[in-house]
Amino acid sequence: MKILSVNAGSSSLKFTAYEMPEESVLMSGVFERIGIGESFYTIKFNGEKTKVEVELTNHKQAFEILIKELLSHKVVNSLDEIKGIGHRVVQGGTYFDKTVVVNDDVIAKIDELCSLAPLHNPAAITGIKAAQEVVPGAVQTVVFDTAFHQTMPKENYLYALPYDWCDKYKIRRYGAHGTSHKYVSMRMNELLGRTDTKLITCHIGNGASISAVKDGICLNTSMGLTPNAGLIMGTRCGDIDATILTYLMDKENMSPKELDTILNKQSGLLGISGVSSDSRDIEESIAAGNERSSLAQTMYVKRIVDYIAKYYVELGGCDAIVFTAGVGENSKMTRLEVMERLAVLGVKADKEANDCRGVEKVITTSDSAIPCYIIPTDEEVMIARDTYELAK
Ligand code: AMP
Repeated sequence: MKILSVNAGSSSLKFTAYEMPEESVLMSGVFERIGIGESFYTIKFNGEKTKVEVELTNHKQAFEILIKELLSHKVVNSLDEIKGIGHRVVQGGTYFDKTVVVNDDVIAKIDELCSLAPLHNPAAITGIKAAQEVVPGAVQTVVFDTAFHQTMPKENYLYALPYDWCDKYKIRRYGAHGTSHKYVSMRMNELLGRTDTKLITCHIGNGASISAVKDGICLNTSMGLTPNAGLIMGTRCGDIDATILTYLMDKENMSPKELDTILNKQSGLLGISGVSSDSRDIEESIAAGNERSSLAQTMYVKRIVDYIAKYYVELGGCDAIVFTAGVGENSKMTRLEVMERLAVLGVKADKEANDCRGVEKVITTSDSAIPCYIIPTDEEVMIARDTYELAK
């Protein structure tokens, strides 16, 4: 069965076409700069990558081209062969704890939650509507980044604010990257050969979050009401003293919007180092002797370790720590620094094994009290799996 996994951003549309249940990738690609000029798309097919420059005014047009490419490369012979299209949605609030088939009520709820994910949820709706118009015969599903975290107990998702704010304003911890945390925790359990496990999953990319997963179920996660909580990220500050905001508004006469931009786009690794939000640049400038980059990296690693330690206690131990996403899969420096700071818990890094990028493997010695693994994440295949289950 042919299934499409789709991730629509405000000006982009990423897709992967699968043959399910085999999970073989037939074609993948990304449409970029939709509606903002100089648009183009890239397609990967049979190991070859092609780039096409084309004017893309909206997502529907991108979808039409996507279908044309699937047809011309004979990935499908007709539209009817596409049985399911799964869409990634960032915020599902408390409405959704699993993947569901799209209907008017589902769209209305995603729309209602736009204020909690103002950049992402409207884009997802645009993507869903474009897919519905172009491939009306396919089952459309929505896979929520927040769904995996809906199992958190109340003491973990509530903030210590006036109690009725949670109902009145929906203020609570929702978490993010749930599809990735679910994928790597399932895979980790497969590798361990059991499901009664205590796992700490570290999704460390440009955005970053850590989850505590017990017996395959999310117990806690570091992102909060929004994706700017918990870890220090590329440009996001993560956890800070909330009163800094009112203090700054007062001192600098800043508007909430200006502050929001600084906290989300000019903080984190970029804010501390003044160099870059990208770990590769930070590592390069540390090698060149930049002290602020060194400080940024130390703070970044320390915050990761703080959360691992917190979740180790919360889980009452840990069977494995997983590193995934851009930094987790690729930065041997960050992984090693994290593992070395965890020596107090008996973690013993295997430097040779850790000297790698983007491969699934154990990176601690056999006598390490907690094994650490790299597991490359695959959110697309999770979307395809859920969509296949609902479409068949
Ligand atoms: P993601 O958001 O998961 O796509 O992760 C993107 C981030 O991964 C980039 O901004 C970099 O900070 C990081 N990254 C990617 N490749 C490397 C690498 N080879 N070494 C260190 N960091 C990397």
